[in-house]
Amino acid sequence: MQVIVCEEPGKLAFKEQEKPGIKEGYAQIRIKRIGICGTDLHAFEGTQPYFNYPRILGHELSGELVEPNGAQGFQKGEAVTFIPYFNCGLCIACRSGKPNCCTQINVCGVHVDGGMTEYLNVPEYSLVHGDGLSYDELALVEPLAIGAHGIRRADVQPGEFVLVIGAGPIGLGIMEFARIAGGKVIAMDLNAKRLEFCRDRLKVDHIINGSTEDVLARLTSITNGDMPSVVIDATGSLRAINNGFQYMAHGARYVLVGLQKGDISFSHPEFHKREATLMSSRNATRADFEHVIASMKKGLVQPANYITHRVSFNQVIDEFEGWLDPANGVIKAMVEVD
Ligand SMILES: [Zn+2]
Ligand SMILES: [Zn+2]
Repeated sequence: MQVIVCEEPGKLAFKEQEKPGIKEGYAQIRIKRIGICGTDLHAFEGTQPYFNYPRILGHELSGELVEPNGAQGFQKGEAVTFIPYFNCGLCIACRSGKPNCCTQINVCGVHVDGGMTEYLNVPEYSLVHGDGLSYDELALVEPLAIGAHGIRRADVQPGEFVLVIGAGPIGLGIMEFARIAGGKVIAMDLNAKRLEFCRDRLKVDHIINGSTEDVLARLTSITNGDMPSVVIDATGSLRAINNGFQYMAHGARYVLVGLQKGDISFSHPEFHKREATLMSSRNATRADFEHVIASMKKGLVQPANYITHRVSFNQVIDEFEGWLDPANGVIKAMVEVD
């Protein structure tokens, strides 16, 4: 079978590899769709921390279950996706229902080889039923589940103002699940085009351009002086994260979904007087995957809003570099495998 290997930063190559055998505890999927995300692009660029090469990229996947291999309740031939964060099942995080932050986590396509292949073995416990969704929709479940998890961490209540900083693919998912939770969404970014997309396509209530507007004044006026009770970072920019502290209402929660490499710093008195809560949000759990699937089935999330580029498996290497260029306006590039 054909695989695409990222041999070193800047270099993708087709390789012929033997189809994996059937292995105890693993189901086999014939890959149908591969969604490309920032992690894949950064790995290709060589800017993804803790990344080893060579590596087969791809973790936003859907396919046909060709060998359930005893996976409970799964049928041969059904459409599936899977939770690509393989966990140990034994550590304190796993024991407390948080396999998404397992101390020994292996993310498919990051720590172990991923989905740019025709056939992939995945742990049986990771399988998720397709539930009548299309392969396109199923490949979008993982990136949207990241957003759904962030909103669940924030415990967004109906009527709350939720400020989402960063309108990239993850930020867009956060906005959608904030809206689904009943929140009043405020989208902030530095890019006017992205903000127009939030307003026109995702029907986000309020947009703020951080590069041209007085952010504090706009937030004060939108929230009638209260400020947002939930602030979520989806930029992974140190500057944006440090700035975010001043936008919180008293009693607010600040959730970091985006990740960067530096130290965060903020004023303790400003934080303390708000009795604020700061938390990180990592990956997603089965409950988030199921929430995304249910929301897609109800038509609350439209895949067409995300998939801006589409290529076949044999075009990936030629097109990949172009997806790095912001001028191309990629939200989600989808690879079709047949
Ligand atoms: Zn991703
Ligand atoms: Zn664990």
